[in-house]
Amino acid sequence: MAQETIFSKIIRKEIPADILYQDDLVTAFRDIQPKAKTHILIIPNVLIPTVNDVEPDHELALGRMFTVARKLASDAGIAEDGYRLIMNCNRHGGQEVYHIHLHLVGGEPLGPLLSL
Ligand code: 5GP
Repeated sequence: MAQETIFSKIIRKEIPADILYQDDLVTAFRDIQPKAKTHILIIPNVLIPTVNDVEPDHELALGRMFTVARKLASDAGIAEDGYRLIMNCNRHGGQEVYHIHLHLVGGEPLGPLLSL
């Protein structure tokens, strides 16, 4: 059984977070240490520690993460100028929280390599 992270507590609203969207499959909230003007994390409600743990059963939630990313980028007014979606995996990828999350970053020009 995978170890829960702080993100499970955010999903259950046991600790505060600036939640922008939540449904039965995913939750989206502002990153506590934004690396760009807009920095939102989109996560599945089910605990998937890394991309290496993704299974076919997760496809609905993973797809929802992208439709929610599209909606939130539009809501933030950054869709036309563009933005970046990033998911880190394990140590070499720079993953710190072992509950997969899509970083939605934008609101300003981003460098060629943004480390998150
Ligand atoms: P990773 O490096 O795992 O891809 O990204 C983890 C992200 O989660 C970081 O950008 C970090 O700022 C964010 N983060 C870590 N703990 C919290 C928290 O308690 N609340 C929020 N809103 N973001 C967090």
